[in-house]
Amino acid sequence: MSTCTICGKSNAVYMRRYSGERLCKKCFNNSIEGKVRTTISKYKMLQPDDKVAVAVSGGKDSLSLLHILADIEKKFPQTSIYAITVDEGIKGYRDEALKFAAKNCQELGIRHKIVSFEKMYKISLDKLADILKGKEKNELSPCSYCGVLRRRALNTAARLIGANKLATAHNLDDETQTILLNIIHGDAIRIARVKPVLDKGHTKLIQRVKPFCEIPEKEIALYAYFKRIEFQNIPCPYAQTALRNDIRRMLNTLEEKHSGTKFAIFRSIERIRPALETTAKKEKLKDCKLCGEPTAGEVCKPCQMLQELHIL
Ligand code: SF4
Ligand code: ZN
Ligand code: ZN
Repeated sequence: MSTCTICGKSNAVYMRRYSGERLCKKCFNNSIEGKVRTTISKYKMLQPDDKVAVAVSGGKDSLSLLHILADIEKKFPQTSIYAITVDEGIKGYRDEALKFAAKNCQELGIRHKIVSFEKMYKISLDKLADILKGKEKNELSPCSYCGVLRRRALNTAARLIGANKLATAHNLDDETQTILLNIIHGDAIRIARVKPVLDKGHTKLIQRVKPFCEIPEKEIALYAYFKRIEFQNIPCPYAQTALRNDIRRMLNTLEEKHSGTKFAIFRSIERIRPALETTAKKEKLKDCKLCGEPTAGEVCKPCQMLQELHIL
């Protein structure tokens, strides 16, 4: 590859097809960090005196986000950053990822809080998966339970450490996949709610922000590699999102043939969302009558799930 189109000096190592740029390692890394800063200010994700909890799984995305936010924190000393890792109790997977999360936090000098399903819900995901296996009819996979219980665990942990923002590492690929998934599930109105800065909706909900929402997954992987960030790279044994995988493949094929497709989908939705928001019914959240956490109905989803499994 030829010379970097930004600095005009070093050899380019990456061709960014959607912008036509050829970038050297240094300019590539700078571009990712710059893009995160631009996204944060464009969507007003963070304020200088925020207390930010970062959801850190131990994978490439969340650890890259932690490194970049830690760097931003240095320039804004009023901001404080914490890492939260949810230990779902998946043997051979999350216990390994936890080591990477802890090691990176230690290197960066970031306080690290670990919350486990076992402690919070009195059951690990492995045990929950065993119960599901023994059931004759069960429409939900371990992933469906895991997603709902993890979201709750993250929110509760962030609230307990006094954070007012919860940053997650959802990237452009995650966001466009979710948009298409909602459409395929016939739940287009849901798109109004899945956005770069989520609505708060309840005093007990910590506002979620996604500083990577405009960065392709491939570029985060390259960033983590260039920065020599150590992360866990093996898939979860329960990963079973067949439809999401089909969408991922389809989007990657489209992106390969027509670069910029993922950005086009993301931007189209950004433009349509205000209209969708006027149609979408704003749910008034109340307190779950069992656990007191925010819910649209009488009993929250995590409590419903645990009740169905006779754990609550
Ligand atoms: Fe949980 Fe599914 Fe992710 Fe595994 S793949 S961590 S079960 S959501
Ligand atoms: Zn360069
Ligand atoms: Zn509840």
